[in-house]
Amino acid sequence: MAWVYEFSEGNKDQKDLLGGKGANLAEMTTLGLPVPPGFTISTETCRAYLALKESGEGGEPEGLAEEVTDHLGRLEAAMDKRLGDADDPLLVSVRSGAKFSMPGMMETVLNVGLNDTSVGGLAARSEDERFAQDSYRRLLQMFGGTVLHVDSELFSDALDEAKKAKGTESDLDLDADDLRGLVETFKQIIKSETGRDFPQDPREQMDLAIRAVFDSWNTDRARLYRRQERIPEDLGTAVNVQAMVFGNFGMDSGSGVAFTRDPASGAQGEYGDYLQNAQGEDVVAGIRNTVSLADMAEIDRRSHDDLMTIMSRLERHYRDMCDIEFTVERGKLWMLQTRVGKRTPEAAFRIAVHMVDEGLIQMDEAVLRVTGDQLAQLMFPRFDEKAERTLLAKGMNASPGAAVGKAVFDSDTAVEWAERGEDVILVRKETNPDDLRGMVAARGILTSRGGKTSHAAVVARGMGRTCVCGAESLDVDTKAKQFRVRDGETIAEGDVISIDGTTGEVFQGAVPVADSVVVRHFEGEKLDDDLAHAVARIMAHADGARRLRVRTNADTPEDAARARRFGAQGIGLCRTEHMFLGERRELVEKLIVAEDESGVEAALAELLPLQRQDFTEILEAMDGLPVTIRLLDPPLHEFLPDLTELSVEVALAEERGQVDERAASLLTHVRRLHEQNPMLGLRGVRLGIQIPGLFTMQARAIAEAAADRMEAHGTPLPEIMVPLVASVRELEIVRHVLEEQVAEVEEQRGVKLDIAIGTMIELPRAAFLADRIAKEADFFSFGTNDLTQMGWGFSRDDVESSFFSRYFEHGIFDVSPFESLDQLGVGGMVEMGTKKGRKTKPELKVGVCGEHGGDPRSVHFFDDIGLNYVSCSPFRVPVARLEAGRSVLDKR
Ligand code: ADP
Ligand code: MG
Ligand code: MG
Repeated sequence: MAWVYEFSEGNKDQKDLLGGKGANLAEMTTLGLPVPPGFTISTETCRAYLALKESGEGGEPEGLAEEVTDHLGRLEAAMDKRLGDADDPLLVSVRSGAKFSMPGMMETVLNVGLNDTSVGGLAARSEDERFAQDSYRRLLQMFGGTVLHVDSELFSDALDEAKKAKGTESDLDLDADDLRGLVETFKQIIKSETGRDFPQDPREQMDLAIRAVFDSWNTDRARLYRRQERIPEDLGTAVNVQAMVFGNFGMDSGSGVAFTRDPASGAQGEYGDYLQNAQGEDVVAGIRNTVSLADMAEIDRRSHDDLMTIMSRLERHYRDMCDIEFTVERGKLWMLQTRVGKRTPEAAFRIAVHMVDEGLIQMDEAVLRVTGDQLAQLMFPRFDEKAERTLLAKGMNASPGAAVGKAVFDSDTAVEWAERGEDVILVRKETNPDDLRGMVAARGILTSRGGKTSHAAVVARGMGRTCVCGAESLDVDTKAKQFRVRDGETIAEGDVISIDGTTGEVFQGAVPVADSVVVRHFEGEKLDDDLAHAVARIMAHADGARRLRVRTNADTPEDAARARRFGAQGIGLCRTEHMFLGERRELVEKLIVAEDESGVEAALAELLPLQRQDFTEILEAMDGLPVTIRLLDPPLHEFLPDLTELSVEVALAEERGQVDERAASLLTHVRRLHEQNPMLGLRGVRLGIQIPGLFTMQARAIAEAAADRMEAHGTPLPEIMVPLVASVRELEIVRHVLEEQVAEVEEQRGVKLDIAIGTMIELPRAAFLADRIAKEADFFSFGTNDLTQMGWGFSRDDVESSFFSRYFEHGIFDVSPFESLDQLGVGGMVEMGTKKGRKTKPELKVGVCGEHGGDPRSVHFFDDIGLNYVSCSPFRVPVARLEAGRSVLDKR
């Protein structure tokens, strides 16, 4: 196995070995596109290097130096120049490139090979002293920052200083002498900060830069980014060494980034930013304002047209939207990078459907190109168009969504305020990788500089954070913690602003939000909207493909009706606990404090008609579709006042010499019912056995509601679900009581009710004994929230905030098991329980009703193990439908 590969050796499918950048550089080289030649040091080399470092041995993997020498020799031969040669130097870039793109996270050094001598050679050959000095100062700046870890602000401050001395804002006004002066300053900075001179030996420069790229895999910000994006820790990065081409070679040169379609909206047509007389990193850093590709056509028609031709070729070749970096050196176009471009959710749906219409892909693939997470984002609320609003500025719509929050001007404040529960908008001139923490904490990001390809825009889109960038009329002063709008208004830290990432607008104060167009489409509104059409076509295809049915968790007729409009095929979990709250709390109190049998009965009798009404309405909303009603599950004390509060109340009353009989009696019962571990206490089926009247009343209410609905010519399909069963005997006892009730109602009302009685499987014991439990159950519904708690032995309320972050750090989970099913452990129990249940009853209907029913990864798992349905909250129903379809298509 080699450590190093020529660009001409690889292809786009070798991202594991060559990293994304290297694999695609190889692909473009093979396609015959104008790519400066170079070679890629593999990710494997990085892993070997980091392993040596960790073992304490250090140094480089054996044979690496020789291979690099060999490939460098070939590059020198191809370019007919030698690295850092005094008269005619070959310069190279040393570029990171991991399997998954991590924008701005890792290091790249340009112009490697320049030193005090070769800068003269470059000046002489190019007959452009300014250009040579500009390249040298860039090398010192990048090398100093990334390889030698000098605070990069020292360099940018010195650059600002030089511009100020010259009375200009633009680096373009600095002449050769100014730049030579900067080179001296930069060298001094390096010397005084590191105690060493900038290394003059070109090969040493290159080797140090390669190591720095390897090391950049392990920086804190790179780790944080990977955790955020769920990128595995053990991949490592490749290093690309590539001959330099120069966008800073005068006004007929420049650098740019482009997308083959608009990454924000998905609209057809190229989209990009170009900057004259600049090297690549200037474009994304937003040091000067870029121009559009249309304007580039005016500046350099030929390069522009070449770029268009190449972009359309790349798009057809990759059959997807591509993201491109290019440089023009004295009128000649060079391709420096391409990859399948990141896009907003909105763009993902549009592009997928457009590409079907253009004949590039089939519908199956279109569905696989969008995700449930993206759909969920499209269902987020938008600013209400009818609401009053004060427009402060308009920037670029870099990442969609409606965000409202207090303006903050640095990451620390963003994190601090967000931690105490405030919504914040991070406002910056432009962002850099150090702002990542603040961006994660903020609701939205606003910058005054940079385009849709700037760091802020790219990272925000990746995280699904709302972002408006390049709002140029804002004068952001991060030191004074405020920004000024061109004509007056000043917004200080803590002032509320609203930003619309879909339109690029920035508003003063909090603008109210309204339903998104996608939600309105799901609600059944007839819309002449491109995005709604795209979503509709994708959903129709996913529905046609999926096997898994999707139900909803709904406790009210309103939720049930909405979920039905969203495509729910029934209710998988109708909780009854909320029906005992509000005004009905009093009745529950009565039930609990009842002295004798007749007191209990009286309280239950009052509850019965109320419950019946609840069920009638829900059955009506879901007419013709199954409705699984779960009998009362939580411990009774949840319906009573808090023990401590009540004790204090009673004690205070006593002190004042007033005795509140009701409170005092209630207190006795609250004490009696108090549990150390309510989650493991008197709840679920245990309640039904302890207070039989409770479940009886509920069963009766369900049966009567069904009978009422039949009389009204409806088609009620209720199912009764018993929670927290651990033993078949529990279910047997309760089932008997429930059946009695149903039979009685059938007889009284003269109807035939077909009410299935099933159980939740949410205890490990139940999963283990599912074959026995199935004897008494018409269906199973896995309660994966409890099964997760009971399986791991921790309670969600306690642990998420206490030790989960440590667990993430140590890689014990990469995502909370409450958010996405722990497929191995908890999923293993679901799979086992399903198999065992179906061994007893082959036709046993099995579903899931935890939060996981709407989580994309979990939905695929439930489909794979052959469940009949998932049930999730109404807003997750479309997500589950889409993912259930994708799960089938994925396997095709
Ligand atoms: P990132 O992954 O952060 O985009 P890159 O390796 O792509 O880092 O490089 C940063 C910038 O330098 C890009 O704009 C890129 O186009 C430019 N660049 C990289 N290599 C060269 C080169 N050989 N010649 C000219 N510009 C280059
Ligand atoms: Mg790049
Ligand atoms: Mg439960």
